[in-house]
Amino acid sequence: MSRFFSTTHKNLVPYVPGEQLNDKKYIKLNTNESPYPPSDKVKKAVSEEVSRLMLYSDPDSKELVSALAKRYNLPEDCVVVTNGSDEILNFAFLAFCDSTHPAIFPDLTYGFYKVFANLYNLPYTEIPLNKDFTVSPEDYMLNNATVFLANPNAPTGIALELSEIEKIVKANPDNVVIIDEAYVDFGTESAVSLVNKYDNLLVTQTFSKSRSLAGARLGMGFASPELIKDINTLRYSTNPYNVNRMTMKAGVSAIEDDDYYMNNCKKIQLTRDYTASSLKELGFFVTDSKANFLFAESKRIKGSDLYVKLKEKGVLIRHFESDRISNFNRITIGTQEQMEIFISKVLEILEEEK
Ligand code: PMP
Repeated sequence: MSRFFSTTHKNLVPYVPGEQLNDKKYIKLNTNESPYPPSDKVKKAVSEEVSRLMLYSDPDSKELVSALAKRYNLPEDCVVVTNGSDEILNFAFLAFCDSTHPAIFPDLTYGFYKVFANLYNLPYTEIPLNKDFTVSPEDYMLNNATVFLANPNAPTGIALELSEIEKIVKANPDNVVIIDEAYVDFGTESAVSLVNKYDNLLVTQTFSKSRSLAGARLGMGFASPELIKDINTLRYSTNPYNVNRMTMKAGVSAIEDDDYYMNNCKKIQLTRDYTASSLKELGFFVTDSKANFLFAESKRIKGSDLYVKLKEKGVLIRHFESDRISNFNRITIGTQEQMEIFISKVLEILEEEK
């Protein structure tokens, strides 16, 4: 810390992203990216846009907002796009939390929620997940707080049914409920269909996972026009050109190529089933993940040891040092071929442990 760093932030604990290592070629199963490349249409659209980079991007990303509104069957004023969904989550903490609207979220969830709450010095409560890592919807009904729920949750991958999400939204008419659907396309029913019905619901999604654009940074939010207006007030007060020209075009083309991406999601779901059953055969406990990752532990090897040994063998997975889950690892679903290699390396390691 420099001697100039604001005292307001001196105790800030930043978010720690997954490793992005270049020291050798890894099978990268640690940051929930898609193993499949962007479609040809996306590649072409991005390269064509390069010659217009001397011009600022459209601050309202109209072409993309319109494509998303059509795709998700909503009016255009119910849609906003951001620099990754991290940015809309950031805006949501700024817009909908204060000393009289504390934030609540599970104790085990996306680590950035706590970072944002601390960054803005907002009061927050972490609600313990059940022993089996599930969320009890009733825990989010009577708190008079702004609710943040990832559905499916991370890093567990466990999802709530849409009817349960609706109960939570309905029970909080005077508070905003943010449903973070970063992983929704891998087999969970989306709450976007409820946006027309409830003015207190904000659904966030991302192009990073199901649409192979993690490196382009593109997220989106769906909500009532009033909530979207609030998000836009913050967006225009921080960075109106938050979505760059190439990313905007990539997003439009990705929506045009929806079949390609949704088919990739189906492939990932099949590979997830294969990987989960292979891990179970090797004695692992694996949560019922509806995301593009698995959350697993073995009684035969410590989570941290498995992570280190796999890394030595060229496979990166994600280990979290938090007490409750220190024996678990989060494993992103890659291609079928990558996951077969992963399983064979796990087997090798378990044999070496004997
Ligand atoms: N929500 C959850 C639950 C996530 O795991 C992530 C990815 N780290 C995000 C939001 C943010 O993703 P992005 O900013 O790439 O859209």
